[in-house]
Amino acid sequence: MAISVNDLGRLAAECADWSPQDILRLALNAFENVAISFSGAEDVVLVDMASRIKKNVRVFSLDTGRLHPETYKLLEQVRERYPVQFEVMFPDAAAVEKLVREKGLNSFYRDGHKECCGIRKVMPLRRKLATLDAWITGQRKDQSPGTRLAIDVVEDDKVFGRTEKPLIKFNPLANWSSAEVWRYIRENDVPFNELHLKGFVSIGCEPCTRAVLPNQHEREGRWWWEEETLKECGLHVGNAAAATTQPRSVTPSRVDDGEATIESYARHVR
Ligand code: SF4
Repeated sequence: MAISVNDLGRLAAECADWSPQDILRLALNAFENVAISFSGAEDVVLVDMASRIKKNVRVFSLDTGRLHPETYKLLEQVRERYPVQFEVMFPDAAAVEKLVREKGLNSFYRDGHKECCGIRKVMPLRRKLATLDAWITGQRKDQSPGTRLAIDVVEDDKVFGRTEKPLIKFNPLANWSSAEVWRYIRENDVPFNELHLKGFVSIGCEPCTRAVLPNQHEREGRWWWEEETLKECGLHVGNAAAATTQPRSVTPSRVDDGEATIESYARHVR
């Protein structure tokens, strides 16, 4: 590995003021086995930036089976427009069938989103991340005041990495605001989800996302029936753990079970 986890503290401090493009360049040059996680507006910006730096960058997305039609349309637009290797991960069919058989299609309104997100997002994500040395996300600090204020531009992913196989997480847009993301989208004619034209800001699955009013925080449109510090879908579950159980500068302990289990996910969001 070109970048060791032992270097990350120093590296995160050095890169803190770098542009997103420079952080992306560092990630793409340092790792062969790296991929961009794609879901929202920020991720299209990353794909656009990355494809100007290198061809055939790997991009993956999680299809939970509950996405909006507009989101599927965006996935196809991105796949067709950019010279990237685009992969879509799906949940384990047996696990989804068991959940729906036992609790119905919308158990998250009653039981909270952790179980459904665990099956539809975390398990496929863990399966994908187990194959990578590093991943790149579109997380921004100002996306969620309850869970994302402490993220660094490069981190040791202690939730999805393992002691014997560390995983580096790059967050090139950590210090960008929503306004900067949207300025880049407009100036570079980057495709975006049509739901943004209808008042949606942070977009996840259809049953768990709603439009927000002017001056409402974007995260208020996600899992609105749950408290702020639990609003992580599982992709960045360590943020929620850090926000609820630890001082900001401390990351949660590494999950070493190696298996994608709902229990391991739940342990990190309680
Ligand atoms: Fe399930 Fe909602 Fe999570 Fe999507 S966002 S996986 S529908 S709980």
